[in-house]
Amino acid sequence: MTDPVPISDTDINDALRRLRSGGLVAFPTETVYGLGADALKPGAVNRVYELKQRPRTNPLIVHVSDAAAAADLVRGWPREAELLARAFWPGPLTIVLPRSERVPDIVTAGGPNVALRCPDHPVALALLRAYEGPLVGPSANPSGGLSPTTADHVREAFNPEDVFVLDGGPCRVGVESTVVLLDEAPRVLRPGVIGADEIARVLGVPVATGAQRKGERLHAPGQLETHYAPQSPASLYDTDQELARLLEQAPGHAVIITENPRRLPTPPDSLVQMPRDARAYASRLYAALRDADALEPSLIAIHRPAPMAGTSPEDMAIWAAVLDRLTRATS
Ligand code: AMP
Ligand code: MG
Repeated sequence: MTDPVPISDTDINDALRRLRSGGLVAFPTETVYGLGADALKPGAVNRVYELKQRPRTNPLIVHVSDAAAAADLVRGWPREAELLARAFWPGPLTIVLPRSERVPDIVTAGGPNVALRCPDHPVALALLRAYEGPLVGPSANPSGGLSPTTADHVREAFNPEDVFVLDGGPCRVGVESTVVLLDEAPRVLRPGVIGADEIARVLGVPVATGAQRKGERLHAPGQLETHYAPQSPASLYDTDQELARLLEQAPGHAVIITENPRRLPTPPDSLVQMPRDARAYASRLYAALRDADALEPSLIAIHRPAPMAGTSPEDMAIWAAVLDRLTRATS
């Protein structure tokens, strides 16, 4: 790691003190800001559920400094996990494996598996290395709402007495990690910027995506709720006609979010212009939804990004993650 840590030793030391006494620390990652607590202290983890008002059925991702720290928390560290960690860690990939007894029930919502990730952010890594212990790190926002991609987003949601915030600037990736379950047949439980194809290439086996088939055990607790949603009503549209219909149905102040710079049929009251580049769009997504929400509009109308023919597989994976979040934001 050669990246300088854009944070002071004092801040890290304050954060460590909070964590050691069972307190909470919000920390930047490359995806979104996480609400950190000592993963091995059930009382601290309980506080995370309380503060977020997170359903107790929705397990938490455990953040670790490296693969060795992850291997300490599972029943076995299979070759597949090693391959994925070598290819993608530190990075936006969460690996789900059978947990060891070290992991408290509350972390996994009582389930047999634990979700593990090593984040690619100098501040998160500095904190994890200095703490020398795993940290739970769900997004630092009230459950169901938009994930925070800046320290200010976190400060808007929580009191400084409850949550100490490490400010590492805006998050680069902007959407939550890909979650992959390493079962007999690996499966992506939540899409992120690392696509199933990339994972399949590293593992040398097919990787399933999407919801479970009927009758299968629910592998992805917490994946079924409406999530990542703004307060205001929000809808996706494809065509100008659909947009016109939406605007008619929601008289008042509408906000339009689009990556498409074309002239719009109805002069929009407010327009949030999105980048056309996949990475830039993902990075800006939650901030754009927050900006739109802050105007308390009658409707947030979001153009469904339509990747052009010839888009690279990497960018297609990013658009798929973006579409997943947009679908949840508007359902
Ligand atoms: P977040 O709310 O962004 O922290 O995302 C956590 C998500 O990771 C959950 O909604 C689950 O889908 C997934 N996850 C966490 N722990 C587990 C686990 N033990 N088994 C399966 N999925 C998990
Ligand atoms: Mg979340």
